[in-house]
Amino acid sequence: MPDTPHLTAVNQKITELSTRMEGEVRLDRLTRALYSTDASSYQIEPLGACFPANVSDVQAVVRFAAESGLSIVPRGGGSSLSGQGIGEGLIMDLTPHLNRILEINPAEKWARVEAGVTLDQLNRALAPHGLMVGPDPSSAVVATIGGMTANNSTGSHSILYGMMADHLRELEVVLSDGTAVSLRPQLPEAVSALAARDTLEGRLYRDIPRLLARYAAAIERDYPRTWRNVAGYNLNRLHAAQQAGEPFSLVPLIAGSEGTLAAITTVTVGLVPRPAHTHLTLLHFPGLREALNCVPQLLAHQPGAVELLDKFFIDLTRENRQYRQRLSFPQGRSRGGADRGICRQRSGTVARTGGSAAGGCAPQRFLRHRGDL
Ligand SMILES: Cc1cc2nc3c(=O)[nH]c(=O)nc-3n(C[C@H](O)[C@H](O)[C@H](O)COP(=O)(O)OP(=O)(O)OC[C@H]3O[C@@H](n4cnc5c(N)ncnc54)[C@H](O)[C@@H]3O)c2cc1C
Repeated sequence: MPDTPHLTAVNQKITELSTRMEGEVRLDRLTRALYSTDASSYQIEPLGACFPANVSDVQAVVRFAAESGLSIVPRGGGSSLSGQGIGEGLIMDLTPHLNRILEINPAEKWARVEAGVTLDQLNRALAPHGLMVGPDPSSAVVATIGGMTANNSTGSHSILYGMMADHLRELEVVLSDGTAVSLRPQLPEAVSALAARDTLEGRLYRDIPRLLARYAAAIERDYPRTWRNVAGYNLNRLHAAQQAGEPFSLVPLIAGSEGTLAAITTVTVGLVPRPAHTHLTLLHFPGLREALNCVPQLLAHQPGAVELLDKFFIDLTRENRQYRQRLSFPQGRSRGGADRGICRQRSGTVARTGGSAAGGCAPQRFLRHRGDL
């Protein structure tokens, strides 16, 4: 589509931004086309994309957006599945420059990284320490720690490791007025000192505890009783922490906020030990219902993950030359629409699978595979 006069005027305005930052601003058609999609099935063409070189650049972008009335979409790997990584405004891609691992503390089991570090990148650096990040979305090759925080990501081993909000320790973020602040659990005296500041940060420490107190009953009564919810903000976590008398922290509020509350620049994430052994058990079922009926019994054996792969998917994989050879362990072809359940064990629970992992449910076949998955 040709640029309209309005778009040309907006573009001229955005071009000013490049004079305020070290990183690049790109408004060309190719960039706009590339950033008009993420891993979802939606498409929205943005005005352009910018690539902050450092935190001051992120501040400059946020200030510029506020002054100009433009929206910004912070972006990591763009692997979101519901269109969170696209928008009409300016895309702010943190992956080209804000991608350094700043510190790893194996003794205290945490890592401090810039928001654009990918999960694979961090896990590779953690492997020699026998540590890893708990939440493991299968998009790890592109998913960034900033994007995972903003999406409150989880992964196939969520039974063991929960979601990002369970592991976040501290965040450095840029607020909507362009100020950079550190968020961490604060004792009451520190909250009072922060609340006394005549800044946006100060307002957050004044207003949010007040709002939590005012709406405590509603949060307790009406917050959706789902295990994970990124359709709103984690008010339930803040409320629970307040009830338990824990130090006040705005970190859980940023987890799952999908770039709507602040731009995350640095994440301090808690780490978990890498399992010494992994173990895969493959159960064959005649159909979906039979497989699902078995789940409670599988859970009783404390698996690290339970995954369902249906015949359609396995047959497609067998037809793919690249993946066919990796499918050596599920033996034979399933018949009559059979589904397979995969049950992953992590170290420490391997022995529990034993020969009775299937318990009272009746899989057609029961295969086991030992080794690193
Ligand atoms: C094949 C595949 C498998 C997946 N598996 C899983 C899974 O198992 N579990 C799961 O939870 N998800 C899964 N996802 C969804 C998605 O990959 C993850 O949620 C991932 O963590 C998103 O990271 P990202 O860097 O790609 O974020 P993006 O898609 O770039 O952004 C995600 C959201 O976070 C915001 N954001 C990004 N960076 C920042 C920042 N620095 N500051 C503020 N906001 C920011 C964006 O605006 C957007 O709203 C999967 C996706 C694919 C394609």
